[in-house]
Amino acid sequence: MNFHIMTLFPDMVMDGLNTSITGRAIAKGLLSIEAVNIRDFAVNKHNRVDDYTYGGGAGMLMQAEPVYLAYKSIEERCRVRPRVIYLSPQGKTFSQSMAEEFAKEEELVFLCGHYEGIDERVLEEIVTDYVSIGDYVLTGGELPAMVMVDAVSRLIPGVLHNNVSAEFETFQDNLLEYPQYTRPEEWRGKKVPPVLLSGHHVNIEKWRREQSVLRTAKARPDLLEKAELTEKEKKILANCDELC
Ligand code: SAM
Repeated sequence: MNFHIMTLFPDMVMDGLNTSITGRAIAKGLLSIEAVNIRDFAVNKHNRVDDYTYGGGAGMLMQAEPVYLAYKSIEERCRVRPRVIYLSPQGKTFSQSMAEEFAKEEELVFLCGHYEGIDERVLEEIVTDYVSIGDYVLTGGELPAMVMVDAVSRLIPGVLHNNVSAEFETFQDNLLEYPQYTRPEEWRGKKVPPVLLSGHHVNIEKWRREQSVLRTAKARPDLLEKAELTEKEKKILANCDELC
């Protein structure tokens, strides 16, 4: 997988993504990440890439041409026309299922806006997906791009030590992950649930599933509406006022 991040702040994204798990995955050649500096494609001698908005209003807007040229420089190097994700608070909210969909691509381009955003005409020309990381407004698209690259990267085979697709994780089956514990067995008077020490795998799985269902009911009942529950689980939930 090759990630191309179009940005005015290449150091910000590269410094963040070159560390920890994504950094190791780059070193191992499992993925590549490049930051393309939109300012390198400025079309005036002062290297300016923003200007006032037509019709008035506060703030500056990124101009179409440098963004277009930066994109074209990436497209030329890709075998297929890449999917171009514009990070925008106006987009669809990013989710685990979107990360799974993006992980199937060979190339992904992320376009980071700044100031008041980007001239609409170039967005119409190159963007395939408008994606937000939540209902709040940030100063730029760099942090959202890093969030998405991180979430997609860990789904690429070999990036994590374990095979993440085979593991239960939060949002899988529309349930939150069960609580987890590590050594010591007792910490400040709090004990690890005995079933986890029993070595009885069937009972451990049953306990984990039940905890997932209860935890989701408590923290994210909206998810539970889409989860597939057994009749027994539905009954437990119907009677779990004191637990939930
Ligand atoms: N004027 C724009 C609007 O009201 O929709 C907001 C522009 S914001 C100050 C500057 C840039 O930050 C955007 O172009 C976008 O790339 C990025 N951004 C801000 N909030 C975001 C969010 N919640 N998700 C993804 N990107 C965001």
